[in-house]
Amino acid sequence: VTDQGKRPPAGARTGAVSGATGEMIFSGDELLRGDTLNTNQCYLGERLLDLGIFATHALTVADDLDAMVQAIRASLARRPVVIVLSGGLGPTEDDLTREAVAEALGRPLEHHEDLLDAIRARFASRGYVMGDSNRKQATIPRGATVIPLTGTAPGFFVWHGPTLVVALPGVPWELKQMWQATVEPVLRDRPEPEAASGSHGASASAGASGSAGASNSDSSQAVRRIRTFGIGESTLAELFKDYDWHDPEATIGTRAHLDGVTLILRGRGSAEGLRKLDAIQQRVLDVLGDKVYGVDGEGLSEIAGHMLRERSLTVAVAESCTGGMLGKCLTDVPGSSAYFMGGVTAYDNQVKMDVLGVPAGMLAQYGAVSEETASAMAEGVRDLLRTDCALSTTGIAGPDGGTPEKPVGLVYIGCTIGGVTTVERSIMYGQRDQVRERAAYAALDLLRRRLLQAVEE
Ligand code: ATP
Repeated sequence: VTDQGKRPPAGARTGAVSGATGEMIFSGDELLRGDTLNTNQCYLGERLLDLGIFATHALTVADDLDAMVQAIRASLARRPVVIVLSGGLGPTEDDLTREAVAEALGRPLEHHEDLLDAIRARFASRGYVMGDSNRKQATIPRGATVIPLTGTAPGFFVWHGPTLVVALPGVPWELKQMWQATVEPVLRDRPEPEAASGSHGASASAGASGSAGASNSDSSQAVRRIRTFGIGESTLAELFKDYDWHDPEATIGTRAHLDGVTLILRGRGSAEGLRKLDAIQQRVLDVLGDKVYGVDGEGLSEIAGHMLRERSLTVAVAESCTGGMLGKCLTDVPGSSAYFMGGVTAYDNQVKMDVLGVPAGMLAQYGAVSEETASAMAEGVRDLLRTDCALSTTGIAGPDGGTPEKPVGLVYIGCTIGGVTTVERSIMYGQRDQVRERAAYAALDLLRRRLLQAVEE
């Protein structure tokens, strides 16, 4: 059931933000109370940007029908390319998204027996009997397309004027699966704006994105994320201090996270816009060299994993201050069993000695948090698990335990490859969790740079 054939061209816009815009509406008292962190917003904001759609509004609304209807109407009035609603598709009284969309769009709700069968089958496959309350989940606004179930809450989308209204379940993994399988392809294939309706301002393109896909029309958008590790935002600011960061042809933004600073370039998909993006990218690469670990795409764990796999090398980890986080990062990647052999969480000195063979005298002379110990830990786990490479972490995560010589945040990262061991010393900022997470990423980054050097030598 769809009325896609009737949809007018998407994305005609006026106002300060040029190009295709998107909006997000999150429903749920638990989000407003602070019981649940709105991770769906982070996910959707990033995915929209991937599609060259710039999020202009994200609103969290109570589980209240009037409030939701008002929010949807206000959003529709701004004529975005897409409005994504998250949550409120469950079977309970406070799940009101279906009703709110129907009312805001002026469409009746219709029952779909085949959808009810699918929900019933989903329950049965897990050995449950569907309750009566779930019946309401099989109703969706007239003309909407059902998004195939991932859990038990069906999503749907419907074109309304130039806007795709999408309703997704609040459960993050269900939302992500539906986004990837159904919503993203629909948005990528959205119609090019026609001159007649796009004449009031910049308008949307069909899914131009990233370094690869931008079409060459003036209205298309390109986004590029240049990912760096080991530099601060101020270094990037310095690099572009003469640049107009708001140049509409190529706008620069940064995002600092524990896995590094990302430079986010947003530009027009025109030939001139793409040339500017290329020039900025080249300037970053020229100045930062191997501190750039990727453009778009993968994170440090995936990149290190690919490099190990390509070189047919195995890795093990010996972790003190990261307490298993490094092994977790490496095994986050599907297929990591091809190169990750295992790890030792050697928190106590006795374990460093007994399991990893760190000499007692070394620990007494230099301490557990030292270059020598980091080196011995890496070599110890490499020998123990008979791998080609190994990483180690030892540091003072805090909040206590720091001294003037060894302050909180001090971390030594060891890396041994092909009989050559190197250790890097850093002082990580932040509280205990940030210090530990940064240390894990720093270890992955050291592995990446060492593997890169091994190829260049
Ligand atoms: P279900 O039928 O599975 O409950 P639903 O669409 O009704 O789906 P909600 O009831 O709104 O979803 O939320 C279900 C759970 O999903 C919440 O308890 C919460 O843990 C999580 N959740 C909801 N919204 C978000 C969000 N924006 N970010 C992260 N988690 C969320």
